[in-house]
Amino acid sequence: MILERAELEPIGTNAYFVANEELKQAFVVDAPLGAFAWAERLSESLGCTIQALLLTHGHWDHILDAHLFAREGISIMGHAADKLLFENPEVMASFSIPGVDFKGFAVDQWLKENQNLKVAGIEMEIFEVPGHCPGSLLFYLEKASLAFVGDAIFCRGIGRCDLPGGNFETLKNSIQKKIYSLPDKTELYSGHGPKTSVLSEKQENPFVRL
Ligand SMILES: [Zn+2]
Ligand SMILES: [Zn+2]
Repeated sequence: MILERAELEPIGTNAYFVANEELKQAFVVDAPLGAFAWAERLSESLGCTIQALLLTHGHWDHILDAHLFAREGISIMGHAADKLLFENPEVMASFSIPGVDFKGFAVDQWLKENQNLKVAGIEMEIFEVPGHCPGSLLFYLEKASLAFVGDAIFCRGIGRCDLPGGNFETLKNSIQKKIYSLPDKTELYSGHGPKTSVLSEKQENPFVRL
């Protein structure tokens, strides 16, 4: 399995590219500005086709390029609680920065708690981790000992809870029940900033304690 990260415009949001070298298939997690061109370059250099775009949540900075994936017929997956944000991202305009061009798109597959999903031949389990955003999802790849956590938790931080649909108690519950309960060695790949691990956040995260 190949895993690449890019920190993209306009506010430093991570996109991840995961490829299965045997099957020559890949998927992308989140689509900040420039994610489509970046993923296309990677897939071409590896000789892979992109099977899906997995969205950790519907905040504008994570979905700016999603319409480009949709235009290519790449399957878009996300949580139904963020349907409005996916289809009408301009509703978050007042929380974004000036000059952003919002383009809505349709989600092809809705994901939910405890669903088992296989994309590009890679198995994962879906967890709902609301609190930062109602449709926040976590993608757990047990075999690779890693999880894509979106903006639920960061290295020594947590997602902000003051945006519409955000709630600190809900986020704290998501982190304690769905993230701190994963094996200690699990690497956490967040929507912003560097990767961390379950053990290291259990020990050091100043906002949500075990
Ligand atoms: Zn967010
Ligand atoms: Zn974000």
